[in-house]
Amino acid sequence: MTKTVAISGSSRGIGRAMALAFAEKGYNVVVNSKTTCDLGEEVARECEKLGVRAVYVQADVSTEAGAKKFAKVAFDTFGKIDCLVNNAGVAQSKLLIDCTEDDVKNVLFHNIACPVFCSKEFLKEMCKTGGVIINISSMLAKSNAAMESLYASSKAAIIGLTQALACEYGPSGVRVNAIAPGFIETQMTDNFSAEEKREFANQTPLGRLGQPKDISGLAVFLASDEASFVSGATLFADGAVTL
Ligand code: NAD
Repeated sequence: MTKTVAISGSSRGIGRAMALAFAEKGYNVVVNSKTTCDLGEEVARECEKLGVRAVYVQADVSTEAGAKKFAKVAFDTFGKIDCLVNNAGVAQSKLLIDCTEDDVKNVLFHNIACPVFCSKEFLKEMCKTGGVIINISSMLAKSNAAMESLYASSKAAIIGLTQALACEYGPSGVRVNAIAPGFIETQMTDNFSAEEKREFANQTPLGRLGQPKDISGLAVFLASDEASFVSGATLFADGAVTL
């Protein structure tokens, strides 16, 4: 039977690469992004060109209403969702003393709320059928990084969320894992200069920055039966982990 994956924040960058990688493996795909200017509809059409069914859902999944809409369209369209990837997130580089209350809401709250609300909505059904959840954390959850206090805190929280959900829903046949990418070249990281990027690359074991495709294959692996005994794990993907 054809499997289906739902990926939050999949109109571009890592999320788009995951949508296409799952489609290449024959998964139907539920594409999501916050705004329609993010070209999520185009990603759904690209998936269809690979021979699968795909639907785009515009929804801000940092709100409970948005996550409910994402889940409703996904289950109404495909009946069963085999894998949810909690990929939607935002970044910010700022000294903590310059962070405002809005920054705390827009980065720390946002990055935790997206996987919390989506997991809650999808688990209501996944508890009955089994399934896989993959949360996208970041290498910054564990590496030394100035200017990243809110972002790093939010991504560290995702590792805790992953472990708690793995224990809570393992008995219902749901595996929950996280991927913590190092520096990946996407629109999120466009604002770094070429020199800064060279420095980041030099700090990694492989001496290069990642591309979205470097992460998408890992998500497909974690969703597959090859990873059937892996739950509660965080897979760190390149970068210099210091803890
Ligand atoms: P990106 O900015 O290129 O894409 C982010 C996507 O998330 C977009 O489709 C955007 O519409 C969507 N999104 C954001 N907030 C949303 C919301 N509330 N509701 C629905 N959609 C929303 O980012 P990216 O680089 O592809 O990053 C994807 C994920 O990977 C993020 O969680 C990010 O924190 C994480 N990550 C990125 C890197 C990196 O170096 N690029 C490294 C580690 C982790």
